[in-house]
Amino acid sequence: MTRVHNFSAGPAALPEPVLQQAAAEMLDWQGSGMSVMEMSHRGKEFMGIAAEAQATLRELMAVPANYKTLFMQGGGLAENAIVPMNMLRGKASADFIDTGEWARKSIAEARRYGGVNVAASAQDSGYTRIPPRDTWQLDPHAAYVHICSNETIGGVEYPSTPDVGNVPLVADMSSSILSRPVDVSQYGLIFAGAQKNIGPAGLTLVIVREDLIGHALPCTPSAFDYKTVADNDSMYNTPPTYAIYIAALVFKWIKAQGGVAAMEALNRAKAELLYGYLDSTTFYRAPVARDCRSRMNVTFFLHDAALDAAFLKGADEHGLVQLKGHRVVGGMRASLYNAMPLQGVQALVAYMKEFERRHG
Ligand code: PMP
Repeated sequence: MTRVHNFSAGPAALPEPVLQQAAAEMLDWQGSGMSVMEMSHRGKEFMGIAAEAQATLRELMAVPANYKTLFMQGGGLAENAIVPMNMLRGKASADFIDTGEWARKSIAEARRYGGVNVAASAQDSGYTRIPPRDTWQLDPHAAYVHICSNETIGGVEYPSTPDVGNVPLVADMSSSILSRPVDVSQYGLIFAGAQKNIGPAGLTLVIVREDLIGHALPCTPSAFDYKTVADNDSMYNTPPTYAIYIAALVFKWIKAQGGVAAMEALNRAKAELLYGYLDSTTFYRAPVARDCRSRMNVTFFLHDAALDAAFLKGADEHGLVQLKGHRVVGGMRASLYNAMPLQGVQALVAYMKEFERRHG
């Protein structure tokens, strides 16, 4: 068996020990005689798995007691609708910070449910930076302020949580959750699809402050009303049981590595290695402003796009896969989520240097 270094933006590489444990437990989970996939979600075995997933996640992120952690379905894009349905709370509009593709999708979807105020946009920069905080035209009466913490496609990330005063801050953390410590109490709501730093696609995580729950628009599907989900401990409908099981293993793996702070140290080292090399040469170019470069999704271009195909082919041959940039941006993108080891980035940089020597 040969495993590649997988730089996919998502679904993405998972920690190898997690996959090994899942493989070992596939036919018989801890003497139950069943695969986790075959268990009733209301049976004691699975209830235990779900409770452990919840508890470990809360510990990793130090989730305050007045926040619910919900395991939902529908992914980040469904949350773009579910958030305004639940969070408008009788108010006319919400504020959005436009930082790229994912923020734009959130903006477009929210318009179907209420007013949208684009308080700042980085469009003029070609989405290569976060709009400076002092340019944001926030509405003090907004229901919430929506940000995308890390733009997976553009490779732009907030270096820290912006201060938006008393209006609840909502963050799409699909591609940065658990990659660095965050102070949950600074947010009204955090959501994330699982398929980058948490586990398999199909699970969506929502962390929401309790007082913001219970005000959903009447048209909200019951399964997407945070109150219904919270009141039923995320078991109103059948949850994505296997994805929750893998997430529980990933959370335990993160804890064993030293928690989210240890993940951040590793992620910083990986990002510095790659950006450091990109900055040392004119053969490649990193387009994003230095102070908001993503640690999770490193976007870069070859100086000559005519070499792109050869670069990708050679990378594949070196076991370095999924480096092609998103079609909206072009060029290359290396996603360096928690499960990407430092050796993967070292191998990538070594290949990039070799490619530069041959073609520079
Ligand atoms: N938001 C962000 C930041 C993303 O990266 C993605 C997926 N790449 C989404 C939302 C959409 O998630 P999903 O495909 O799970 O709906």
